Amino acid sequence: MSALLEVEDLRVRYATRRGSLMAVDGVSFTLHAGRTLGLVGESGCGKSSLGKAIMRIVDPHSGAIRLDGVDIGRLSGGHLRPHRRRFQMVFQDPAASLDPRQRIRRALEEPLAVHGRGDRSERRDRVREVMAQVGLHPEMVDRLPHEFSGGQRQRIAIARALMLEPSLIVCDEPVSALDVSLQAQILNLLADLQASRGIAYLFISHDLSVVQHLADRIAVMYLGQIVEIADRTALWRSPAHPYTQALIAAVPRMNPERRGLNRTRLLPGDLPAPQDPPPGCRFAGRCPFATRLCREQAPRLAEIAPGHAVACHLHTAPDGGPDGAAAPSL
Ligand code: SF4
Ligand code: MG
Repeated sequence: MSALLEVEDLRVRYATRRGSLMAVDGVSFTLHAGRTLGLVGESGCGKSSLGKAIMRIVDPHSGAIRLDGVDIGRLSGGHLRPHRRRFQMVFQDPAASLDPRQRIRRALEEPLAVHGRGDRSERRDRVREVMAQVGLHPEMVDRLPHEFSGGQRQRIAIARALMLEPSLIVCDEPVSALDVSLQAQILNLLADLQASRGIAYLFISHDLSVVQHLADRIAVMYLGQIVEIADRTALWRSPAHPYTQALIAAVPRMNPERRGLNRTRLLPGDLPAPQDPPPGCRFAGRCPFATRLCREQAPRLAEIAPGHAVACHLHTAPDGGPDGAAAPSL
């Protein structure tokens, strides 16, 4: 199976008043067509910045973003445009992507018009078709965004993302603003669309239990870096990084047998300031297993089982692994 998306050593840097901040600091992963990679971590860990860099909403500082082998991270303007329709984004707040004065029909036709797709009647047909795909009555297209509920607005945002038949949708906390019952409906809709249209998702959430519903693989991010990546079941059954263990322990309703763990492993402290990450392991200040080595030397992401990689000295040789070892292919 060839990769749809290959992200390699990606860095995203922002200038802030307190200095430059590497929001994404050397992230690599692969996503295959029709599959879902879940990306979890606390707010501020860089997962949205990673999603926006892949969408080319922010420019990467360095690294590669290959979509079907083409490094879209290096393209801009007219060179990027032909690739744009292939990747779309759905945000937490659907209102942010909908103009309150614009009728839904116009909002949905707009991507087609921008990309010169179809004539007027073909665009209208496509709008009706996609409205039905997301479970909305096609007759609703002449309404304004405020005439819809929150869940319906998120369906419209998904419809807009679908208009140009993308291969990849970056979903950034798409259900976090919704009630739990609506969350399940939107997650089911995304799963159905993937099954019928073969769309790949990069599914970003702070909530591991939400990611768990859709993801084939899960990457855990901490302070700009992936600290663990594995198949969903492997990550859930045998989390290797103390941070992943803490995240899973914080989901007690899905893991009644882990309640004891939950009490002992609640994460103390906050994320360190990203402008000034600690020199060794970035998690050391919150880790119950931290040693001197951890505080002095940053652990590298290394494969501990096929397809399962972790960045933690507990799982690698004391020197951080063999020198010159190839980065795991993930
Ligand atoms: Fe904890 Fe050390 Fe592993 Fe970092 S490297 S997660 S501080 S044990
Ligand atoms: Mg975010």
